[in-house]
Amino acid sequence: MDQIDWQKRIFKTSIELDITLRCNLVCINCDRAIRHAPENADMTIEQIKKFIQETKELDYKWEKLKLIGGEPTLHPQLDEIIKLIKEFHKENPQCEVQLWTNGYGEKVKKILEKLPKWIIIINSRKEDNRSAFVPFNLAPIDDEKFKDCAFELGCPLLKNCGFSLNKYGYYSCAAGSTVDRVFGLKKGIGSLKEFLANESWQSQLKEYCKYCGHFKHPYNRKWTRKEKISKSWEEAYKKYKIDH
Ligand code: SF4
Ligand code: SF4
Repeated sequence: MDQIDWQKRIFKTSIELDITLRCNLVCINCDRAIRHAPENADMTIEQIKKFIQETKELDYKWEKLKLIGGEPTLHPQLDEIIKLIKEFHKENPQCEVQLWTNGYGEKVKKILEKLPKWIIIINSRKEDNRSAFVPFNLAPIDDEKFKDCAFELGCPLLKNCGFSLNKYGYYSCAAGSTVDRVFGLKKGIGSLKEFLANESWQSQLKEYCKYCGHFKHPYNRKWTRKEKISKSWEEAYKKYKIDH
């Protein structure tokens, strides 16, 4: 399958809500940059309400909604968010609601035990910060073999993961939102209506994929426990640290 097919198969009815970027682990090669650009970045209750309201107004039919992060159980207003998502789920019974957790530590485990049964828990059961990941911080533009690719076409994760919403807005994908945050691109879109109407993900992908290690993965298939960072990311993290 070539890249054009992937673009056609973008998963427009699935969305990841990065409700917080707080995390009790700092995994090597984390594609939310928790290790090198930590930030609480909690989504607000107003944002969740606006997401639900806009979904209703647009009569948009989500098939999958993931509460994720960061470690989503560490959002200080998780109970309130779950109440809102429960109402959303009643109105959108076709939509599967998942919560993705690292399952690490007593605090997280206790919160997981109390979650209602209608939320499907996807638990990666991490035991430390050395899980194997795709090296997210290897920018294709830092690699001679990839630097001239058609980045605007994205990668297969668009199909697997769907859109992303975090504190800073709507994005083509969650990995793209990390590129946006660390490189200071500020391309997040504040409204679902605007995001969908303008097909904003297309211009976002053009900016994000050239920095995203996932772009290379279908060709390389290299998972690793070792930290890998290419030149563009080294520079971006240096700048991020100064700016923050
Ligand atoms: S548990 Fe997940 S979000 Fe937290 S640092 Fe590890 S990969 Fe990143
Ligand atoms: S930003 Fe990364 S995850 Fe998102 S489509 Fe581009 S290569 Fe894939």
